[in-house]
Amino acid sequence: MSAVLNDPIPTGRPEPKPGVLAIEAYVPGKSHAPGVEKVFKLSSNETPLGPSEKAVAAFAEAGLKLEDYPDGSARALREAIAKANGLDPDRIICGAGSDEILNLVTHTYVGAGDEVIYSEHGFLVYKIATLAAGGVPVVAKERDLTADVDALLALVTPKTRLVFLANPNNPTGTYLPFDEVKRLHAGLPSNVLLVLDAAYAEYVRRNDYETGLELALSAENVLMTRTFSKIHGLAALRIGWAVGPAHVIDAMNRIRGPFNMNTPALLAGAAAIADAAHVEKSVAHNSKWLPWLTGKIEALGLQVTPSVANFLLIHFPEEPGRTAKEADAFLMRRGLVLRQVASYGLPNALRMTVGTEEANELVVAALTEFMASGAAGTTK
Ligand SMILES: *Cc1c(COP(=O)(O)O)cnc(C)c1O
Repeated sequence: MSAVLNDPIPTGRPEPKPGVLAIEAYVPGKSHAPGVEKVFKLSSNETPLGPSEKAVAAFAEAGLKLEDYPDGSARALREAIAKANGLDPDRIICGAGSDEILNLVTHTYVGAGDEVIYSEHGFLVYKIATLAAGGVPVVAKERDLTADVDALLALVTPKTRLVFLANPNNPTGTYLPFDEVKRLHAGLPSNVLLVLDAAYAEYVRRNDYETGLELALSAENVLMTRTFSKIHGLAALRIGWAVGPAHVIDAMNRIRGPFNMNTPALLAGAAAIADAAHVEKSVAHNSKWLPWLTGKIEALGLQVTPSVANFLLIHFPEEPGRTAKEADAFLMRRGLVLRQVASYGLPNALRMTVGTEEANELVVAALTEFMASGAAGTTK
């Protein structure tokens, strides 16, 4: 008879697989300030300009026909992305945010005990995805809050499967010049996949920066990921994509949910990426306000990490009355919602998204008041 009948009946409750309970769930940026009517959400790096009007119109139109399944191959969106970037649509995969892409690539390549390398203040999703896959996070030290290629390469072992690099990085706003990215790639064994997360690429205005597209097209072990959540202003729709070698895209497609993208997202995304003028407007807004904010905040005696993205990392003293936590509470009471970044190993800093002119001016005025508010502990 069945062996099962004779085996002792297992007891206890269902247990998650190893790694899962080691995960500290991602905590999104706050969107409310208790008791304040007008709130400026500067906590999640969304754009103050909103999406392209063409994207909003495409979204509305998609709402008129919700009974059909979406196109599981995301063809229209992949073609629009390909056209905007001069790519072959077959080398592109789309996901529900780059979050899904980052998770897909991890689950495709990482199993129990496999190692995944990323840097000290790297994006938290890398750690969560690695642990969820049963992998082992391996964290490289940074230098000046910037990824350090030598430190990353020093951690490679025969068990390494992936290296994640956000370039520019969130929450630091720092970046690696393309020469350094190429040096990182050249130093990796050919069986290690380098994932370049270029979520903020459009904002970068530096001659020595590149997204990594060239590597993703020419190398057999580089994937570049992008998002519609930041400059395209479509965070609510969850749209991300990646470009890479055909064999990597093929493998990821095998575990992707067959209808992972919804129709409104597919249509709005395609309209957004075709609207180059809107992207230009957003870049111009950021290029104006990022240096303005940096200068004004530094003038208050606060250190700001040089950022090339649409946010900045502001460092506060440890002195009571002047700490990052107290500054956060002070700003919050004025409806100015920034992001604490202790979970990124930066307990003395706050991250601020570049906002509207009004929001930016209010933050500078509030921080001026905070820093001038006299002796320790007297801030209200
Ligand atoms: C915001 C962000 C993303 C984008 O995430 P989505 O899931 O596409 O919204 C990816 N990587 C980094 C580093 C980010 O900061």
